[in-house]
Amino acid sequence: MPDKKYTINEVLSLFEETPPKEVLIHFLTTTDSAEIEAVRIAAEKTLLKYCGDNVYYRGLIEFSNNCALDCGYCGIRKSNTKVQRYTVKEDDIVKAARWCAEVRYGSLVLQSGERHDRQFIEFVERITKRIKQETTSSILPQGLGITLCVGEHSLETYRGFRDAGAHRYLLRIETTNDELFKSIHPNQQNLDSRLKSLEYLKEAGFQVGTGVMIGLPGQTPEMLADDLLFYKKHDFDMFGMGPFIPHKDTPMGNLPVMPEEQRTNLGLMMIALTRLLTKDTNVAATTALQALDPIGREKGLSFGANILMPQLTPTEFRENYLLYENKPCVDEEKEDCLNCLKRRVEMVGRIVAQDQWGDSRHFFARNTLFS
Ligand code: SAM
Repeated sequence: MPDKKYTINEVLSLFEETPPKEVLIHFLTTTDSAEIEAVRIAAEKTLLKYCGDNVYYRGLIEFSNNCALDCGYCGIRKSNTKVQRYTVKEDDIVKAARWCAEVRYGSLVLQSGERHDRQFIEFVERITKRIKQETTSSILPQGLGITLCVGEHSLETYRGFRDAGAHRYLLRIETTNDELFKSIHPNQQNLDSRLKSLEYLKEAGFQVGTGVMIGLPGQTPEMLADDLLFYKKHDFDMFGMGPFIPHKDTPMGNLPVMPEEQRTNLGLMMIALTRLLTKDTNVAATTALQALDPIGREKGLSFGANILMPQLTPTEFRENYLLYENKPCVDEEKEDCLNCLKRRVEMVGRIVAQDQWGDSRHFFARNTLFS
């Protein structure tokens, strides 16, 4: 279909069922602005129909940059000796969580580098339990909703995290292409074990989120189309994806990448196609989008995203959690984030939900289907 350009209604009808891979590749490569706008509107309509117009916040606490892994793209990789390593004190994490509840965000994400030692696992369990206890109130009868993003672990460890009170988990697959995965990770890391972890997370009862980096060197539209089909096939509840942004102190820091505008647009198209395919899931407008475009997150919302992750990491640590360069909001006080994001949400005609966990409707749909 080389010359075919789709209208809004045609896009919607194409996505009534999972479309063939060629259709996804067509949209991932189109440069026709009217067609891109048709996809955007179709994704927005799908979002409003299946999820409504609420935007849910997850306050992001990057509680430690200690990492046992050496991912080729990541600024906090073990071998980057320029980074000053930190772990935020337990009391300060809980303090940030309490603030998150006070300003009515409803949920938070605890993210860190990946470690597998007992001390780390117990630390995550302990802060999760404390946050639950210390944010429970008449407004939040079960405390803040907690999403963890702390990497690959055993089923037993995931069960422990779940028992501690976390109920959502983000683990990006990064890419579903085996060769590309190998080219961006050291030999010890592999796609199979990441897939296994994603299965364990479901088995442990989490709402499970995944995602890929977009615009990686060597990544093709075919690979991204496979990523989208993988999202659909494995029935995930949540998605967080964003453009790859090189970090100079990593092995991938000097590789050629597509221009920023093109990477942003591809990121937005991936959000729209994810929404059209998966319908009632939660999709984040990630900070990486805003690193490339000052209004990248608003654009993400208007292409079908419904989740934002305001920064709650104590300011003094943020400059040591630079996964990539030009990360936004590094100096921003969290109070400023509050106002800034509200304006951004309202600019695209959506509503900030308060005091709600904002769970993925898909999770409940997939669980009632088999119960
Ligand atoms: N260690 C945990 C894990 O791997 O799931 C959580 C933290 S990890 C730093 C979070 C995500 O940051 C990764 O899954 C990756 O997609 C993203 N990331 C890291 N470096 C990046 C870069 N240079 N550009 C864009 N995203 C990046």
